[in-house]
Amino acid sequence: MVTTDEILSQLSLEEKAALCSGRDFWKTKSIDRLGIESAMMCDGPHGLRKQEGEGDHLGIHESIETVCYPSASALASSFDRDIVAELGEALGQECQAEHVAMLLGPGLNIKRSPLCGRNFEYFSEDPYLAGEMGAAYVKALQSRGVAACVKHFACNNQETMRMAGNSVVDERTLHEIYLPAFEAAVKKGKTRSVMCAYNAVNGSFCAENKTLLTDILRSSWGFEGFVVTDWGAVKNRAAGVAAGLDLEMPGGPNATGDELIRAVREGALSEAALDRAAGNVLKFIMDAKESRTSSERLDRNACRALSRKICTECAVLLKNRGILPLNRLQKVAFIGELAITPRYQGAGSSHINVPHAVGAVEASAGRSISFSHGYDIRSEASDPALLAEAVDAAKNAEVAVIFAGLPDSYESEGADRESLGIPANQNELIRAVSMANPNTVVVLHGGSVMELPWLDAVGAVLLMHLGGEQVGAAAIELLYGERTPSGHLSETWPIRLQDNPSYLTFPGEEGVVTYAEGIFVGYRYYDKKEMPVAFPFGYGLSYTDFTYSNLRLDREKMTDKDSLTVTVDVTNVGRYDGKVVIQLYVRNAECTVRRPIRELREFAKIALAPGETRTVTFALDKRAFAYYEPKVHDFFVESGEFFIEIGSDCRTIALAAPIQVKGTTEIRFAVTETTTIGQLLKHPKGTSAIQNILGGAKSTATSANMGEGTEQAARKMMLEMPIGSLVSYGRISREQLTELIAAVNG
Ligand code: BGC
Repeated sequence: MVTTDEILSQLSLEEKAALCSGRDFWKTKSIDRLGIESAMMCDGPHGLRKQEGEGDHLGIHESIETVCYPSASALASSFDRDIVAELGEALGQECQAEHVAMLLGPGLNIKRSPLCGRNFEYFSEDPYLAGEMGAAYVKALQSRGVAACVKHFACNNQETMRMAGNSVVDERTLHEIYLPAFEAAVKKGKTRSVMCAYNAVNGSFCAENKTLLTDILRSSWGFEGFVVTDWGAVKNRAAGVAAGLDLEMPGGPNATGDELIRAVREGALSEAALDRAAGNVLKFIMDAKESRTSSERLDRNACRALSRKICTECAVLLKNRGILPLNRLQKVAFIGELAITPRYQGAGSSHINVPHAVGAVEASAGRSISFSHGYDIRSEASDPALLAEAVDAAKNAEVAVIFAGLPDSYESEGADRESLGIPANQNELIRAVSMANPNTVVVLHGGSVMELPWLDAVGAVLLMHLGGEQVGAAAIELLYGERTPSGHLSETWPIRLQDNPSYLTFPGEEGVVTYAEGIFVGYRYYDKKEMPVAFPFGYGLSYTDFTYSNLRLDREKMTDKDSLTVTVDVTNVGRYDGKVVIQLYVRNAECTVRRPIRELREFAKIALAPGETRTVTFALDKRAFAYYEPKVHDFFVESGEFFIEIGSDCRTIALAAPIQVKGTTEIRFAVTETTTIGQLLKHPKGTSAIQNILGGAKSTATSANMGEGTEQAARKMMLEMPIGSLVSYGRISREQLTELIAAVNG
């Protein structure tokens, strides 16, 4: 078999440049004389958006009819890697059947603000959860010989100015919050492609950001695939290729291949860089040809059944005052247009062409259901006739179930949301119906956080997310207890938008977005501030009950080179079969840097029958205890006591056990006259150096000269003193100071 290098050596400069831009909207170029075919890529990622006619990246032109699955915001709420893998495999099969070599997804951007119009396409506010979901999806899709393309790398956390903005993020925050999901997709998922974002990060556009595309992606993480631009993200093409970019999309008459040829001829771009880019694209094309299977046939009914099953795993029961599950004999009033025409996917490039989406009314055969429209989904204004009809229906029923949520126009690629509210007419309807019938249930549709001003007045709330085309059927299964809800929120639902940590800086000004909240994104912020929230991260109810017991760690002490095994028993103590999500958080009890109270470091989902107990095992390594330390440009463990916590959400911790962890990396940093004594003591050579010079001498600030009982304050004051001031206070000579600095830095 010919290798990529052999083919590359036969290509002219023009051919190499040609390979680095697409042929049209969705395909790479072919080079017929060498038998190099063109490979097709398509949008998704919660279904296949294959456009056979004219292409576009905004969801305007028709794509083939297919099956739509729950969107990423829903998927992450399953907390289930296996279910995500089932989806990845199904999409892989479909891509094979449709001769699609690469699916453009999944989206791994972190939900910095609940206002981001594209949050429905992203997994979580938590980097670990987003990374695990992403890696599971990528692995499964690629196991079918279809490349994944994780996007949008990096810090594309809003739609306002999405094509020209500059995300200003400090190094620690970038590595701790915004990059780990991509890192997991590269290291665990082995993604074959990464799509760079439109925006700039710290002043350099992602399409030409060497720190991101080469230093981090390739040198640090070992990425071996190719980088494609987001559609139209190229600014300076030659600078992009030099920085690590491979393929420009879309292609067509305005592609910038000529710029590459010119840059190489003029010496502005090395031919080696162009060879790398062309070689990476070539490898993708050749791999695609090799992994193509001719046998895949799509069983649409099986896909629909899968879409429905996934949807039931993702739905989150937010509230239940004993009303759910319903029974078939109850007289139930279904209210709201979304019960007939459900909202099941978001708008933009991920939009799937679905022949028919199943509403709850359609799926409710065999039950005693009435239906009334309740509101006009296209309007904010309430309609007195629709309202009166709904209230009447609610009065005549044992239970009223209102299908509510965000209309299409409220969340879309290309535009951020303006508030967390659902339309005023729906709020009014819910209030009126819940007054008419205390047994009111609200079924919510939407891809992101919603404000629920009527929460106290209703009996139950079931969040279906954007649950894919079978969302109505899945809702019926859950409402009637054929399945027990088992989803947990993959993002915090704050009480008010103003509570969100990015509130003051989202969406920035004139394109500059300063991520001033740093690492305190989502629950990391709300927990640290001990702020009340509507629903915490990880929250979700069930029809059954679970207890946790017997938390065991296989050791009491470890270094950051060891692995810790954690086991815990979980029992279903309720009356229903159900699935439980076990969440493992790590809390750093003593640390000298600012850290969140706790962080999700592992999770598992298992099924339990009533009375059944199972043991769950987790393995934790260095990263579970580490933070990113800019001084060493790496993840770092500070020695001290940590707690392993098991909970059902980030605020409901059932069990905790301590572990002493010793970090084995030393932080060396340059010491100067302005280094404080406190800082110096953290330097590996600091303690002995200062002891050598000060000997047994006491601190200059003693409790005696500050007042009674102020030893602690005196110590603090001393730790805050720059070492240069030891000279001013006559504690050491200038020569001794020079000696001390030299001893530490040397
Ligand atoms: C979106 C990508 C999408 C691409 C192709 C862009 O505008 O940001 O997510 O894959 O278009 O449609």
